[in-house]
Amino acid sequence: MRAFVIGNVALDEAVTVADLPAFGASIHGKAGQIDLGGKGANQAIMLARSGLPCCFCAAVGEDSRADEIRSRLVAEPLETDLVRIAGVASDFSIILRNPSGDNAIITTNAAASGLTPEAACASLAGAVPGDLLVLQGNLSTETTAAALRKAWEMGMQTTVNPSPLRPFFGDLWPLVDIAFVNECEAATLGGTDTLLAAGVPQVVLTLGSKGARLVTPTGDVLVLAQPCEAVDTTGAGDCFMATALASAALRGVALDPRALRHAAAAAAITVSRPGTGAAFPTKAELAEILKQP
Ligand code: ATP
Repeated sequence: MRAFVIGNVALDEAVTVADLPAFGASIHGKAGQIDLGGKGANQAIMLARSGLPCCFCAAVGEDSRADEIRSRLVAEPLETDLVRIAGVASDFSIILRNPSGDNAIITTNAAASGLTPEAACASLAGAVPGDLLVLQGNLSTETTAAALRKAWEMGMQTTVNPSPLRPFFGDLWPLVDIAFVNECEAATLGGTDTLLAAGVPQVVLTLGSKGARLVTPTGDVLVLAQPCEAVDTTGAGDCFMATALASAALRGVALDPRALRHAAAAAAITVSRPGTGAAFPTKAELAEILKQP
């Protein structure tokens, strides 16, 4: 089985500040590392590091950030399809972090929202029935809908993490096999039962340090988070989702509590280190995690 991730890629620039600046204010901050980020890239990297063959399609602009993104992605065990969009800037995130590790994030999305339905669907050309489509909320309505419909017609398994949450997801749930939502998203969408009623057979509700629930029409299982000293939670949800999907796919089973335990172990590593891509578990760490019962 292969995973096909269609989503965004961005360069993350973190700055630690005592407090958020008010409009009109000018404050000092402490620069952190520049890191590869974007929910699409995060999930693709983690799927690939877990050992699941993964193709990643994303858009970049025409600038030096695009070159930096490309060179960082080349270092990952991924097949990458980067679509250059003329006249736009590559996407980037400014992560404002306070000394306790809480984040406020500003992300640009001109490149991601410029990925066309045609380019997204073309990236699925090599997929076969049973392969996994992985989507998030950064693409346009048309592109998200087109990729989901195409994957559905091809008999792929479809997975959506509706973050950032967009109004158009409401119409698309009947095309989704697995949804990953955090507490805030679940509440806005009307709860996990609403997603099940809309036709999503498996819903994973992540609960931060409280763990995650696997909710299906026949049951609801809570898997606890792995205790750790939280340094930076950026990317925890992406790491969790990708590890859970890879764990199940590599064993040839539907999502199960073991997959969520593997995901919790991987996410705990991410949470206990600063950064996004730089904080993700390595291939070797994931190989050890995926052996756990
Ligand atoms: P983010 O937006 O920060 O990437 P999210 O809101 O999508 O995350 P969360 O529910 O916060 O997702 O976290 C996903 C998983 O990461 C949790 O289910 C848990 O396993 C792990 N996790 C998050 N925070 C902590 C923590 N403080 N300690 C241990 N594990 C954590």
